[in-house]
Amino acid sequence: MSTKWDKDEEVQRFREYLKIPSVHPDIDYDGCVEFLKKQARELDLPVAVYELVARKPVVVITWEGVHKQLPSILLNSHMDVVPVYEEHWTHPPFGAVISEDGFIYARGTQDMKSMGMMHLEAVRRLKTAGVRLQRTVHISFVPDEEIGGVDGMGAFAASEEFKKLNVGFALDESVPSPKPKEIIVFYGEKTSRQIVITCRGEPGHGSLVAAGPVRTAGEKLHYIIDKFMALRAQEKKKIDQGAWFGDVTSINLTQVEGGVQINVLPERLSVSFDIRIAADADHEEFENMIIRWCKEAGDGVTFEYVVKNPQVKSTILNDKLAFWKVMDKAVKDMGFILKPVVCPGATDARYVRQQGIPAIGFSPLFDSPLLLHAHDESLHVDVFKKAVDLMEKVIEAVANV
Ligand code: ZN
Repeated sequence: MSTKWDKDEEVQRFREYLKIPSVHPDIDYDGCVEFLKKQARELDLPVAVYELVARKPVVVITWEGVHKQLPSILLNSHMDVVPVYEEHWTHPPFGAVISEDGFIYARGTQDMKSMGMMHLEAVRRLKTAGVRLQRTVHISFVPDEEIGGVDGMGAFAASEEFKKLNVGFALDESVPSPKPKEIIVFYGEKTSRQIVITCRGEPGHGSLVAAGPVRTAGEKLHYIIDKFMALRAQEKKKIDQGAWFGDVTSINLTQVEGGVQINVLPERLSVSFDIRIAADADHEEFENMIIRWCKEAGDGVTFEYVVKNPQVKSTILNDKLAFWKVMDKAVKDMGFILKPVVCPGATDARYVRQQGIPAIGFSPLFDSPLLLHAHDESLHVDVFKKAVDLMEKVIEAVANV
């Protein structure tokens, strides 16, 4: 089907990138790397491919600034996308079909091949217009964000190669806003902590009721679940009162295991919780509280982490951060507002913040439904084009600080 955007090169390049099926599991990134090398050639910019982990390439396209000794700007996006249930899609998820009403359908239109292309297209426009930026701009494309990013930005941000880029400020991803003139930005993230609590008790006949202190695994498990559920209810109340879900600690009971037979008191019962600690919560106190609860529950109650992510300090958004100040102004000048929130999940920005570098999640997608990881992920062409405008102004502003 032909559309009025067939001659729009920016839209066509975006579609070309979307058609590369860099989808989990077991991704072959070669198609993305070749595509990005071609973009670099067209832009006449140097490109480096780092393979810190085998088959997990990190692609960096660099546009040198006038003052190359100044800390640089990093524009990061991930190349991978999450799997699809093709039978639930109106158009093929790697077809990048543009519907009659102007929506591009493809996995990655929102999360986050669109931002990767905006970074490239904004630089292409600036370069074509003869602009020279003060700071060097690195456009990075990383693998594996959707499976935790350990072998992607995790490995890259901790490397010598990354240090050499001398990054002073980074942009990464956020989520679309449903409002027509609002853009959501992430300045911090919650911390993932997943724990298993094991309660050991005296085995025995299912009919026993012993006098004295707590002895059964069931009683101890009951105590632990009660404590976590009471805390969960407290946090949920904040949500019911209108809090943003990035600002509360989420606690979910996800697994219960143990026991051998219905008439035998179990030697062991365990319960697992998926916890995401609010960015401003005292993480150490949170751990101490769990230790205290285990002690109170009785003898033989222990806990271990399945995932214990370190607390990463949020990027503080105020006038002291000049990059933020100019970015906020550039967006306002275009008639939009930035809405800063804490990311309820996790993005690669945390690895950058961990290096002490301010990083902001910035997906300039407005007036769009939230379709990350959803069937029929799509983006309107007009939103994409306007988002390139916004990205261009923001890059120009932050790279001239
Ligand atoms: Zn993403």
